[in-house]
Amino acid sequence: MDQTKIRNFAIIAHIDHGKSTLADRFLELTNTIPKEKIREQFLDQNPISRERGITIKLAPVRMKYQLNSQDYILNLIDTPGHMDFSYEVSRTLAACEGAILLVDATKGVQAQTVAHYNAAKKENLKIIPAINKIDLDSADVEKAEKELMEFFGFAKEEIYYISAKTGENTKELLSAVVDKLPSPKGEENKPFRALIFDAVFDEHRGVIAFIRVVDGKIKKRELTKILGSDLKIEAGEIGYFSPFLIPKEELSSGEIGYIVTGIKDIRLCRVGDTIVKPDQTVSRLPGYHTPKPMVFFGVYPKDQNDFVHLREGLNKLSLNDASLSISSEQSVFLGTGFKVGFLGLLHADIVRERLKQEQGIEPMLTMPRVLDKEENGEILEPYMNLTVYVPTQYMGAVMTVCQQKKGQLKNIEYHEKNSVLFYDMPYSMFIRGLVSELKTVSSGFSSIDYEITDYRKADLVPLEIVINDIPIDVLSELVYEKEAYQDAKEKTEKLKEVLPRKQFRQIIQAKIGGKILSRSEIPPFRKDVLAKMSGGDRTRKDKLLKKQKKGKVRLSQFGKLDLPPQALFSLISSLKGQ
Ligand code: GDP
Ligand code: MG
Repeated sequence: MDQTKIRNFAIIAHIDHGKSTLADRFLELTNTIPKEKIREQFLDQNPISRERGITIKLAPVRMKYQLNSQDYILNLIDTPGHMDFSYEVSRTLAACEGAILLVDATKGVQAQTVAHYNAAKKENLKIIPAINKIDLDSADVEKAEKELMEFFGFAKEEIYYISAKTGENTKELLSAVVDKLPSPKGEENKPFRALIFDAVFDEHRGVIAFIRVVDGKIKKRELTKILGSDLKIEAGEIGYFSPFLIPKEELSSGEIGYIVTGIKDIRLCRVGDTIVKPDQTVSRLPGYHTPKPMVFFGVYPKDQNDFVHLREGLNKLSLNDASLSISSEQSVFLGTGFKVGFLGLLHADIVRERLKQEQGIEPMLTMPRVLDKEENGEILEPYMNLTVYVPTQYMGAVMTVCQQKKGQLKNIEYHEKNSVLFYDMPYSMFIRGLVSELKTVSSGFSSIDYEITDYRKADLVPLEIVINDIPIDVLSELVYEKEAYQDAKEKTEKLKEVLPRKQFRQIIQAKIGGKILSRSEIPPFRKDVLAKMSGGDRTRKDKLLKKQKKGKVRLSQFGKLDLPPQALFSLISSLKGQ
């Protein structure tokens, strides 16, 4: 295929800036999907099942486009817009030559705008800036324009002013994709080499790898090898995206397409890996690594009878999500469940939502834990570069929050109306309320991005929660030594508030290595057994009181703790502040 007629590009944007809507306009303009058939946000669906699920990415799509009586092939591939997926973003961008940087005129440049811009620059992409939603009265085109120029150094003349909703200037923008973005520069005569930029699992056909052919070509049924997993596969079917899978006899350098691998385990076909022909010695494409889970939750069925259902649900999700790590976990109180590792809290949210919508399962999650490392008996914790974008008026409040969260301010950039703050901060602040506190103090106007930097020695100690001398495994966690007293106090007080009163005394203690840091107490609840009695049948009264006393003795002997999973779950929720 003539590579000079191919353009591979992505639309990069902060969430809600109009990516899906713009993609719809491109589908219409190129007649890829006839206007009457286009449903809103057409590409927000799974290209295999045609079902709408929780998509974190649009389906890739190949569009035919004619400009100056030349036929072009435009491949639009999408990047996930959430900060937990920066690795996936980088691999998708590596499959492109260029990108449209879309900015909502009512919002201006936000965290993911900058994060994606930087990621695209790292991959040497040519970038076309575009300001969207110019049809809105609340659009502040000038501000967005100034920010694009200040943040990224674009010239005013480079910027497109569009409405993805009305279609205004979207044709001009699409023409710019052809005119301004470079064509692929692979070598068709070199050995075959393709980048896996995504992979999905299909029940009937196994894993389908989404690829960018970098060099050479591949024919249907040819033998190939995934370098990282050293796995040989026959390319059962190859093809391109319409956005649905359209089989084709051959894919050659510069093309975006798919390979039906037949593999059953998506972990053997990882994003960022390289596919080659088995008999050729070709080096791996740069930039590959396996994403590491950063945050763990205990995931338990609400009812132990649903254990199998939950296990199947998680397994199903992990068929399509190579970054989920699942192992089993036991709790004295919650029974058998799973320890599930996620890329971050957002990833965990997405998985939880998918379990609910796709499998009808609503499990309970314990308190999140950050994955710490242990080295020579010392606990090491991950640190990150945190970037906060905030309207300047909220800057002071944001800085206060970041300071409380052990943030070290590294740099400040002042722009038109926004400032950018750069912090060095322990990653664990994400599970200590960082995001919600930032949202609160900035009235929802701040946005953030992060990048893990390194692991450092942490002054973490295990804080144990004990109720009536019985340690509650799922409430215990690692806390910073310096904050241990404060945390202990907060927890015991909170538990006192939310634990239901019982007919026996409940003593709540927070301990470190046997030392009690904080204690609270819930007095027994004396059932008023006499309430319904009027008058003075003395013997009957005595009998009732005696019976109550006996009951109390029984409870204090056998029922020192009455904490059914449901109660424990609501405790966890309230401790998490949900
Ligand atoms: P995405 O998260 O970047 O994919 O954003 P969407 O395409 O889902 O758009 C977010 C919201 O903005 C949706 O409600 C769209 O209808 C709306 N939207 C997108 N583009 C425009 C536009 O040009 N004008 C107006 N008025 N609304 C738009
Ligand atoms: Mg979208």
